[in-house]
Amino acid sequence: MTQSMLQQAQTQLDAAFQYANIDEEARERLLYPERTLQVSLPMRHDDGTLKVYQAYRCQYSSVMGPYKGGIRYHPNVNKDEVEALAFWMTFKNAVIKIPYGGSKGGVCIDATKLTHREYERLSKLYVEGFADFIGPDTDIPACDLYTDERVMAWMFTEYRKIKGGNPRDVITGKPVPLGGIPGRRSATGYGAYYSLEFILENYWDYLGLPERANRDVTIAVQGFGQVGFWFAKKCFEHGMKVVAVSTINQGFYDPRGLNVRVVREALDSNQEPPGQKITNDELLALDVDILVPAAIENVLTGDNADAVKAKMIFELANGPTNNDADRIFNQRGIKVFPDILCNSGGVCVSYYEWLQNRHAQEMSEEDVDKYLKMKMQDASRKVVERHLKLNVPVRTAAYVLAIKRLAEAIQCLGTKDYFTA
Ligand code: NAD
Repeated sequence: MTQSMLQQAQTQLDAAFQYANIDEEARERLLYPERTLQVSLPMRHDDGTLKVYQAYRCQYSSVMGPYKGGIRYHPNVNKDEVEALAFWMTFKNAVIKIPYGGSKGGVCIDATKLTHREYERLSKLYVEGFADFIGPDTDIPACDLYTDERVMAWMFTEYRKIKGGNPRDVITGKPVPLGGIPGRRSATGYGAYYSLEFILENYWDYLGLPERANRDVTIAVQGFGQVGFWFAKKCFEHGMKVVAVSTINQGFYDPRGLNVRVVREALDSNQEPPGQKITNDELLALDVDILVPAAIENVLTGDNADAVKAKMIFELANGPTNNDADRIFNQRGIKVFPDILCNSGGVCVSYYEWLQNRHAQEMSEEDVDKYLKMKMQDASRKVVERHLKLNVPVRTAAYVLAIKRLAEAIQCLGTKDYFTA
């Protein structure tokens, strides 16, 4: 029987429990979401028709602090997907060590077909539906697939209208004039770059990567949105060879390396980007050092894992590698650096945004970047050290780190030993 996305995610957790040495009760608590709310959003389209869309918010764990997680608009959104994404947020926040639990939200809709007015209406309806479920001290949403700063601004405005006051700390990823933080847009991509740079500089030999200068590495990036673009840009600016990038429609490949800024400018102005055209499937099978899935989940599966030629996979999307592919990569000695480490820079900077809103202060872009880099390097070092010490896959090592932090918090409430003593 095929596993649901949440079951797949929990299998990753199971692999780590035996190395984490935590109390059985903590394990039991981490296996289930605390709650999930489903709401029907009746939306009137510009042509006068009314359609009802299903919206969700899963609050997986509040052990470490208020729930925190983005909201996505995508046709694949359902209860299972949102719960799996909230699960990953819980462990990601623990890996990067910020005082948040994990949550996620979404609407099952193809947002590319919406007009601007419909986009605004949908975003405000989402907040109306979940206003009593979210809040600055309870659950703090943010951007994700097909939701951006503008959507966060609409959602913030709607929340204010319903609840009163000016609670800027209710949502992160806002535009800077509305309390957003400089550097949030690029945070996930830049954070991933800092993690990759640190790993290549410090663990090159241990990782069994080919003998080449760091800067010579070749990289293919699937997905050229908020995450993939900023990551590719930073790699390009630091002299790494980004040989391929792609959007949902197609990819562009040049073995000598693409000028990432030129590709962006071409796509933004509906021009033809440079490079040979390739499909997303071809991109995943390119002979590169590092493959970076930065689009959506489940793109690397048992069906295409054998075709992957990269030596290392750096997961920027959430859940891009399913468990069958993960098993194959482990057998083939391909190192998979997991989403809960690699893409944690976004929520890290969201945390700084929340802090500055709570204190009515402003952080400079330089400080944001400095703290982001420190956090990413610290988490990367701790994960890779566990990976080497325990001799387990990097993903399992990241879960061991997160589980230990979560379990310590759970155990503070008392265990069976305490209550039966
Ligand atoms: P985005 O909407 O800005 O960009 C997504 C990109 O992927 C686009 O280039 C799109 O064309 C491409 N794409 C979409 N469907 C595809 C498909 N089927 N095949 C190939 N390419 C496809 O989204 P984003 O914010 O960049 O998020 C990308 C991933 O990163 C998601 O999994 C998201 O959950 C994760 N993530 C995002 C953030 C963040 O800060 N935005 C933080 C952590 C994780």
